[in-house]
Amino acid sequence: MLYMDNAATTKILPEVYNEMLPYLKEYFGNPNSMYYFQAEKTKEAVAEARNNVAKLFNCLPEEIIFTSGSTESNNMVLKGLIRPLKKKGNHIIVSSIEHSSIINTVKYLENNEDIEVTYLPVNKEGLIDINDLIESIKSSTILISIMWGNNELGSINDIKKISEIAHENDIYFHTDATQVIGKVNVDLDYNSCIDFLSCSAHKFYGPKGIGILFIRKDINGFYPDIIPLLHGGEQEFGLRGGTLPVHQIVGMGKASQIALTDMEKNIKILKDSEKKLVERLKIVFGDKIIFNNLNNYRIPGVISVRFIGFNNQLFLKNASSILSASSGSACSNAKPSYVLKSCGFSDKEIRETIRFSLSAYDDYNDFIEIE
Ligand code: PMP
Repeated sequence: MLYMDNAATTKILPEVYNEMLPYLKEYFGNPNSMYYFQAEKTKEAVAEARNNVAKLFNCLPEEIIFTSGSTESNNMVLKGLIRPLKKKGNHIIVSSIEHSSIINTVKYLENNEDIEVTYLPVNKEGLIDINDLIESIKSSTILISIMWGNNELGSINDIKKISEIAHENDIYFHTDATQVIGKVNVDLDYNSCIDFLSCSAHKFYGPKGIGILFIRKDINGFYPDIIPLLHGGEQEFGLRGGTLPVHQIVGMGKASQIALTDMEKNIKILKDSEKKLVERLKIVFGDKIIFNNLNNYRIPGVISVRFIGFNNQLFLKNASSILSASSGSACSNAKPSYVLKSCGFSDKEIRETIRFSLSAYDDYNDFIEIE
């Protein structure tokens, strides 16, 4: 079986799994408890994991807030900022191809919280136009949220430039970086205008149900005024209540450590596998396929292909005993992709499209060997 749906989720690495196991078996204590034996060990494990995540992003450990994943992190930043910033304004800018956890959250805010939203258009490659962004900024704009890499087309925005424009206009900047971790260097010291960043561990060979929201502290060491999504105990610097899932956090820490060490090597592997897959598809399908996204602003290992005259759902169903790929986002699989629609693809083209997303830890050679 060929698994080519790594943008939906990845297989956990054995090193990650092994690191997690002791925290499911012997070290089950609550890191917020006072007693030494159990609590201290788990407290240390959480601190080490936080350090490893912070190293991956080149930021401070206290700027890493563990959440259940990107969906929660995206909700937290969008819902958590609007009340504290109400005096400044009520306008948010997003791109029209953000993940549903951004799009449906801002729609909720539009309908229930008197928030005005601008949905920036994208070109055929899934990129926003910087001039559109600049023109859409108002004195009431409080937040710009643009994804780093798109989950369907793999398109990569110029996040450094976009975040700098936000700061020049005194506006907070958030990016959903879920799809790029371990495949792009996400350096938050270099990208100093990113205020908030979301990601999930299961997209880079870690466990599901754990992610982070990066929240940049100001020069005086204070967090921006953000209301927690989950009120509760004092966990996560008072920003996210709930007993810490130590095994998940340890898994994310290990996955982050590996993502950093293996990044360069993995980018090369992904580009190489992708090249072979593209060649193979060309040989097998010839002029019956069109590549939607073979440009340079793209996450390595994510390719979107149109199989002319095929229905993607039927194609995937028929191929399901040998191939796992996807017609788009796993989170909105039932409907035709709004992402591809926003990029200007017709309904017919959308129905013909399949996304292949590769793993840096799988060997596809047997399948995509070129004769
Ligand atoms: N943002 C993007 C770009 C994604 O691809 C995903 C997962 N498909 C999410 C957010 C949500 O992540 P999770 O389901 O782990 O919360």
